[in-house]
Amino acid sequence: MSVAGEFEALYGKAPEGVWAAPGRVNLIGEYTDFNEGFVMPLALPHRAVAAVSRRDDGVLRVHSADVEGGVVQLAVDALEPLSGTSWAAYPAGVVWALRESGHPVTGADVHLASTVPTGAGLSSSAALEVVTALALNDLFGLGLTRPELAVLAQRAENAFVGVPCGVMDQMASACADEGHVLFLDTRDLSYRQVPFDLAPRGLRLLVVDTRVKHALGDGAYAERRAGCEAGARALGVRTLREVPYVQLPDALARLSDESVRRYVRHVVSDNHRVERTIALLDSGDARAVGPVLTEGHASLRDDLRVSCPELDLTVEAANAAGALGARMTGGGFGGSAIVLVEEEAADVVAAAVEKAFAEAALTAPRIFPAVPSEGARRI
Ligand code: ADP
Ligand code: MG
Repeated sequence: MSVAGEFEALYGKAPEGVWAAPGRVNLIGEYTDFNEGFVMPLALPHRAVAAVSRRDDGVLRVHSADVEGGVVQLAVDALEPLSGTSWAAYPAGVVWALRESGHPVTGADVHLASTVPTGAGLSSSAALEVVTALALNDLFGLGLTRPELAVLAQRAENAFVGVPCGVMDQMASACADEGHVLFLDTRDLSYRQVPFDLAPRGLRLLVVDTRVKHALGDGAYAERRAGCEAGARALGVRTLREVPYVQLPDALARLSDESVRRYVRHVVSDNHRVERTIALLDSGDARAVGPVLTEGHASLRDDLRVSCPELDLTVEAANAAGALGARMTGGGFGGSAIVLVEEEAADVVAAAVEKAFAEAALTAPRIFPAVPSEGARRI
């Protein structure tokens, strides 16, 4: 049944509209978005779809086709940050963030279904938030821009759900364009759509979901974040974005704490890798992005130390089998990796990764092509 049909079966009337928002993978620029740095995500074909109708009685009802437990009913004027651990906190958090900002959201019925794998580092959470935000923006005529919706969705996740994520995931889901990567400057949320037409160039980007559930809540993310902030303070800059790549050796020499030094090296060099990737794509040399990805992985593994054996194995096996380059993507500690590969080598490389997992007695990874897809929209 369609999502609209499921809505009608659930709530007894047709929805006012249906919206979709995608998950994402990040090509390069990791752990840079909370340092006001650069990121380069692309939207996946996997997406959250929401059928939504307005209500004027202060009631919010949310339902997901993908979880047990039925309809969750809440009162919009009694939404409390950090009050629930259920999935419903994501859409409810968006309603809360909109109302906090003075937008007259008087209630809604929401039914959603998503094809974004959860906890795989592909931003199923941002897809949920952004689809809710866009639907309410349209239905209540709020007139918010895509970046404004992304920021509100991030605020929902940070303050209401309690996950300290940066703004990349929501911006990717809200603003990405089909066939493009989104070159985003997280300092001012300015962005540019960079053509990423892999197929005509005989290239493919694979996503390897290691099936290891990432858990950012375990403090590692917050620790990296605090370390980066300590680095900025020690260097006398507002954020690490202010440290130009050419000044990295000098900056490192001024840092005494070993972890902080490694974190600073990662962030400043990954910002530079984004700039190098942009230059390569602009000059039509997408193949040369491969080694930049692998370099980025080494930095995440050795300096930031957010990789895990399954991600390292993916990168090693893919590169050994002839990939152009590979790296973990997203927060790490599990989740997914991306592999840039010649189209004709894609099957061999995927098989090599599967074989490596089997030989290590690991759960088989889920491997699929990352086709750059469109951002959130009404359907
Ligand atoms: P990621 O965003 O990388 O997939 P997160 O831990 O940030 O991982 O978000 C995953 C959470 O988002 C799930 O645990 C669940 O609460 C919520 N979620 C994602 N997709 C759905 C869905 N289709 N239905 C209900 N909740 C969902
Ligand atoms: Mg998430």
